[in-house]
Amino acid sequence: MPGMPRSLVTIDLAAIRHNARVLADGLEGAELWAVVKADGYGHGAADAARAALEGGATALCVATVGEALPLREAFAGVRILVLCPADPGDDARAREASLELVVAGERVPEGVQVHLKLDTGMGRWGLAELPAPGRDVVGLMSHFATSDTDQPFARQQLERFLRATDPYAGRYVRHVANSAAALTMPETRLDAVRCGIALYGIDPFGEDAGRFGLRPALRWESELAQVRRLAPGASTGYGRRFVALEETWVGVVPVGYADGFRRDLTGTEILVGGLRAPVVGIVSMDTLAVRLPGPVEVGTPVALVGDGITLEAHAVVAETIGYELACGIRTPPGRATRRIVG
Ligand SMILES: *Cc1c(COP(=O)(O)O)cnc(C)c1O
Repeated sequence: MPGMPRSLVTIDLAAIRHNARVLADGLEGAELWAVVKADGYGHGAADAARAALEGGATALCVATVGEALPLREAFAGVRILVLCPADPGDDARAREASLELVVAGERVPEGVQVHLKLDTGMGRWGLAELPAPGRDVVGLMSHFATSDTDQPFARQQLERFLRATDPYAGRYVRHVANSAAALTMPETRLDAVRCGIALYGIDPFGEDAGRFGLRPALRWESELAQVRRLAPGASTGYGRRFVALEETWVGVVPVGYADGFRRDLTGTEILVGGLRAPVVGIVSMDTLAVRLPGPVEVGTPVALVGDGITLEAHAVVAETIGYELACGIRTPPGRATRRIVG
């Protein structure tokens, strides 16, 4: 097909807007803060931020000052919180851009609004004890280690947080919940929740985000570039890791690990002409092979993600999480195309 890129990633902003609305509507008064770090989990930070704000989010969260600055250009007046401790060299830029920073250790940035982060069990960034809040403090926060896997432990973290911060209730915005907690532990919602993965329609529990009314925002498509018949004993790909036991048809798809279709996704299912088909052999840098039910035409559409093929299902095969796969999908110029719709 002339003009068809090797692969096409489509980001549906209507889905992000819808997901923000679903999340915001379920919060019973807490604010929805949209986490758009890591380029919006691979979806495009500015586009994702705009869609989330349109859907009812009231603030943006990123990991670094460098991620926040372009968002400040695009969204004047919107609260932007930098979640990871900032480098002292970034304080002036943060101040000029009216960013809010997190205090998670000894250092308190000068003249910038800050959120004190209490470590209640994550064992990473965070203060062991809550100090008396100084004059630049606007928020109190913590972060869950296990809201997707061990909710009793998350509840203990919440209790520690409440014990330390109850004296300040109503004076500072208190926030602890990520997507998993916001969706399934109503008691964690407090004044605001920080949702990332759910905004993109990916299930933080690795199952099916549809059960929460969320819709995946990312589609990834390609097409069959070649179709071949393997005689018994013939193989496809590096290392001869797939050897045909009987006559087997395989399709070659021009997407590989350099595009973010990881090498450990052998065995996962994709759609070829609307039918599920397993990836076989070794995924290489530029190419993957898929087992076909028979001789399918070159140019047949392939869905790598979309139409029921989910990042959650791929993540099970790769023994990772949807977050990592989403962040890894790449569309470098000259190789793949990214399209924004909705
Ligand atoms: C990334 C992050 C979040 C968002 O987590 P999701 O599981 O994607 O909702 C929330 N809070 C902090 C501190 C984070 O770093």
